[in-house]
Amino acid sequence: MLSDRRTLHTVSEARPPFYIGVDVGGTSIKLGLVDDFGNPIDIGETDAEGNRKNVTVIKTESDPRTAAVLMAETVSVLLKRLNIAKQDFGGIGLGLPCTMDKTTGKLRRPPNLPTWADFPMSDELSKLTALPVTFCNDANAAAYGEYWVGSASGQTSLALLTLGTGIGTGIIIGGKTVDGAIGYGGECGHMIIDSADDALLCGCGQRGHLEAYCSATGVAKRTMHAVMRRPSSIQPKITPETRLSDIPKIVYFEAEGGDELAMEIVMDTAKYLAIGIVSLLHTIDPACILLGGAMTFGGKKSPLGQRFLTQVFREVKNRTFPAIAENVQIDFAVLGSDAGYIGAAGMMRSEVKK
Ligand SMILES: [Zn+2]
Repeated sequence: MLSDRRTLHTVSEARPPFYIGVDVGGTSIKLGLVDDFGNPIDIGETDAEGNRKNVTVIKTESDPRTAAVLMAETVSVLLKRLNIAKQDFGGIGLGLPCTMDKTTGKLRRPPNLPTWADFPMSDELSKLTALPVTFCNDANAAAYGEYWVGSASGQTSLALLTLGTGIGTGIIIGGKTVDGAIGYGGECGHMIIDSADDALLCGCGQRGHLEAYCSATGVAKRTMHAVMRRPSSIQPKITPETRLSDIPKIVYFEAEGGDELAMEIVMDTAKYLAIGIVSLLHTIDPACILLGGAMTFGGKKSPLGQRFLTQVFREVKNRTFPAIAENVQIDFAVLGSDAGYIGAAGMMRSEVKK
């Protein structure tokens, strides 16, 4: 349940104040509690295998009002069960997959939660719980988690690229997220890396974006094109029943098994990603670039993941200034799927500490 290198603490051994982090996804909402050092707290639940849990999960309701009530009830249950006094609680960090209009507090068109558009979720949750709530974009929250207690802990700045079905990006500079004028700062998955008229189509409807090449969908589409041109051990594994989302896994196993075309697809992914990263380096010169999500080819634990990371660095080095290449740390994120709720809680903490 818990990501690597994180130890679950009980309330009595933790350091107050406590913060709740909420990570809202398209189908489920995760709620977890951390202490003042970002340690995840044992919430008093066990999973199917009997392991202690750090998050409780509820279903994402399509009606935002019902969702707000359910979240408020879950917060109340958690605080009561763990016997956390009001003076030991700092507030709730609410991570959502969209931006918010800061003047009205209304959510701006969440792509995966269309019925939540224009709903003042942050204010509503605060009203229902009578607790302070801070809004954060989920990609920024994940980046903040890595900045606070993850791979970038101790660094002054970072950009986190989470490579999944799409590419989520968060940028932190000096402890602050880069939100931009209307909340679209750090949408690095939509940086243009190919200006050709027939460049790959991105999920956003435009062509040539980083996400169209390096997300799971992008890798799957490039694989489909590649197997039509050249024989490889990938082709027989793709049947009419194979879903696009299963293809990156096939590429991973075939590359590990020594298939030349599969390895070429992995190395090309590293090259495209590096092209995007170089633009980021030349724009903000962050101390650290972190890669997370399922499309890191097994990450730190896998020899293929390590080879992928080495290739990303090599391709970056070939395209940037020597001083930047010598200074920047390019590594894997460590908090995994916990980054969102830990970072959201951390962003609430930083509001309190202001
Ligand atoms: Zn795009």
